[in-house]
This record gives sequence, C-alpha cells and structure tokens, in this order.
Amino acid sequence: MARRRRSAGPPEPCRALVTGGSGGIGAAICRQLATAGMSVIVHAGSRLDRAEAVVDEIRSNSGQATAIQFDLADGAACAAAMSELTEPAPLSVIVHNAGLHDDAPLAGMAAEQWQRVIEVNLNAFFRVVQPALLGMARQRWGRVIAVSSVAARLGNRGQTNYAAAKAGLHGAVISLVREMAARGVTANTVAPGLIDTGMLEQEHSEQALALVPAGRLGQASEVAALVGFLCTEAAAYINGQMIGIDGGMAPG
Ligand code: NDP
Repeated sequence: MARRRRSAGPPEPCRALVTGGSGGIGAAICRQLATAGMSVIVHAGSRLDRAEAVVDEIRSNSGQATAIQFDLADGAACAAAMSELTEPAPLSVIVHNAGLHDDAPLAGMAAEQWQRVIEVNLNAFFRVVQPALLGMARQRWGRVIAVSSVAARLGNRGQTNYAAAKAGLHGAVISLVREMAARGVTANTVAPGLIDTGMLEQEHSEQALALVPAGRLGQASEVAALVGFLCTEAAAYINGQMIGIDGGMAPG
C-alpha cells in the first residue's frame, strides 16, 4: 500500500486570516497565531480601529500583522478582499471566527434576523474559505478552523438562526476534510461555551453560569490556545472534529 508521508510543515511565511479579529475572541486568536510566528491578517467588519490596535500590539511584540476591513455579508466585497489577499501568496490558515447573534423565538423572528445571522456566521465561511483552498492544496498544507458555539450542540431558546448557522459550519467542515485531507489541509470546528467577551450581556452571564459545570466563564485566551494548537504540525491528524471548549456544558 502506498504510504503518504507526513507534511514537512507549514510554509514560510505562514499567512493566517482571522475574521472578526477586531472582536474579543478573534483578537486573542490573532495574538496567539502571531506568537507562533505567523503573519496575521486581522479582519474587522466595522471597527477597523480595533483591528489596527491588535496589529500595533502584535508588532510591538516583534510579530507580523496587518489589518483589513470588509463586510462578510457583502459577497462582492468579500470576493474583492479575498482576491487581494490570495494574489501575492497563498493563505495557509483561515480562522472564520466572525459572528453575531440576533435572538428571537422562531415564532416571532423576522426573516431579516434569520438571514443576517446565516450570512455572517455561515455564508461567510464559503466566502473566505473557498478562495483560499486551491492555494492550500498547491502548497500541500493548510488549516481551516471555524468558530462555532455550544448552541450548535445543545440548541438555545431564541437562537434557532444562530444554532442553525453554527451547526452548519460543522457540516461544511466534515465534508471539506473529505475533499482536502489528502492535500495536507485540516478543517475543524471549535465550539466555545460562555466566554468572557462583550458578546455576552452581564444579566445573561449570571443566569447562564448555573449551566456551566466549571462554574466560571471561559477566557478568550483559552479558545485562542485551542485554535493555536489546531494550527500546529502536531495537530495534523486532527481533522473534521467539533471540539467543545465550554467548561463541561456539552460533554462528549
Ligand atoms: P465579538 O462581538 O467581540 O466579535 C464579533 C466579531 O465579528 C467582530 O470582530 C465583528 O467585527 C465581526 N463581525 C460581525 N458582523 C460582521 C460582518 N457583517 N462583517 C464582518 N465582520 C463582522 O464576539 P466574540 O469575540 O465574543 O465572538 C467571536 C466568535 O465566537 C463568534 O463567532 C461567536 O459567535 C463565537 N462565540 C462566542 C461566544 C461568547 O461567549 N463570546 C460563545 C460561543 C461562540 P466588527 O466589530 O469590526 O464589526
């Protein structure tokens, strides 16, 4: 039987795009990947100043980073940005972390609420990952990571749109591995529980804490550490997984 050799590792320079790098978890992921020596593209939807602050911080620690802004709900803007990003050299890592929620019980949910949440959380996965795949395949190395949510595993009242989008990411990932694994590209989903960032309102966090066996919120740096590990060569055989990082909320 023909044996496939392990890949030689990530190419130099290893360029990583993190969508939603202007947000709490995304910024932590950017810092983590930069510390690992990657050249990080810190994406913002609207808060370019926040992405630029992350870039400044990374550079002040001798890392490499640049900022970019585009609306993930705008297909033409995404295509233009991805063409600009992939033209000079392949992207080796894509972390689709950007996301939003817009909650309502399904019976009272407006069509726009459903669509906007699906656009940014799920459709944008196609918009940023698809243009990068041929480059990853050619260099025989790549990492695709989608940031999902515990809501994709447990469901959550008022979040049919969000849970559908986040579960859809896992469906995309488990199919993508069947297309790309032989080319040294892995794809995984991480599913955070309650993470201490601006996305979680104070009143909700206090109620929700009762659901967390660990008895505390997670830190963005903990999610970033998991994403960082999945981007290493040591994680080359982890493929197509949805990995919870939720203090035990959704075991197994
Ligand atoms: P933040 O609200 O801090 O960050 C959200 C990010 O998404 C921002 O960078 C924002 O960009 C970007 N974004 C939103 N809409 C768009 C858009 N239309 N176009 C481009 N970018 C957009 O959230 P977190 O850091 O907390 O969350 C990061 C990810 O983790 C999300 O996918 C979220 O669903 C997931 N998650 C978070 C949990 C938590 O407890 N915090 C729990 C489970 C999952 P900008 O601000 O520049 O507009």
